[in-house]
Amino acid sequence: MKQLLLALTLCLASPLCHAWNAAGHRLVAVIAWEQLSPTSRELIGSILASHPDYERWVQKAKSGDSPDIFAEASTWPDDIRNDPRFDDESGKVPAIAGLPDNRRHKNWHYVDLRADGSVKEGLLDQQIERLREVLRSTADMAQISYALPWLLHLVADIHQPLHVGRHGDEGGNHVEIENPFNRRLPFSSLHTYWDDLPGAPWLRGKRLKQRAHDLIERYPPPPQANVRRWRDESHRLLAQAYPNAEGSLLPIITEEFQRWAIGIAEQRIVEAGYRLGRLLEETLKAGVSRGTP
Ligand SMILES: [Zn+2]
Repeated sequence: MKQLLLALTLCLASPLCHAWNAAGHRLVAVIAWEQLSPTSRELIGSILASHPDYERWVQKAKSGDSPDIFAEASTWPDDIRNDPRFDDESGKVPAIAGLPDNRRHKNWHYVDLRADGSVKEGLLDQQIERLREVLRSTADMAQISYALPWLLHLVADIHQPLHVGRHGDEGGNHVEIENPFNRRLPFSSLHTYWDDLPGAPWLRGKRLKQRAHDLIERYPPPPQANVRRWRDESHRLLAQAYPNAEGSLLPIITEEFQRWAIGIAEQRIVEAGYRLGRLLEETLKAGVSRGTP
């Protein structure tokens, strides 16, 4: 009991999370990269190389290859949450050269809906449209290299069912569950449980690519649809995303639920990857045909 209470205290004390973990984001990026033409890949390589944090990505990826940098950039909007050069909404930290904005924008990572389906808070869906418009319409490299990592990240987030949350429990951040399948974290918030389903956060390099290819073989390409549809698909899945079996104190993840949730997480990652790749291909083509950048 003591152990259980300690674990619960630790969970509740941890900051709210709002993202697939790093493995999920990198898998989406690898799958998206497969959808891109050589011209778009080259363009993306040069856009990311002009980002102020490019050298950090090279160090983390231990590689300067464009697909590796692309995967690394996909977690940048989460990395800046713990980076003192960035700020919440107060705007007290000094500007960073080459970045139009150094706020953390936590409300870009999610959208919470009311019971009737209307938006209560969060800008996830709107922001995907805005960032896409930036890539499509501007010729300013600082704006473009800022928008791209955000877009990579948010297209993945909108496919995570808990990111299109139920208003009132912060997208499952305030729901505690018991998870006998994770020895390291037997108690966590429901949101963290879903974020961590894609695999170990340090997944990179060859093993990352291998896992992405396994997923592509197992799940079919989705229809492209649109941002509204991606949001609504996640919201429909949300209704089933809460475990209803009772453990000793908390709702518990059963073997059946675990199998179902892993399947859904994998399918959503594949869908996000295909859709992100096609969206970038189409958006960048529009930009290039106008002479940008
Ligand atoms: Zn996120």
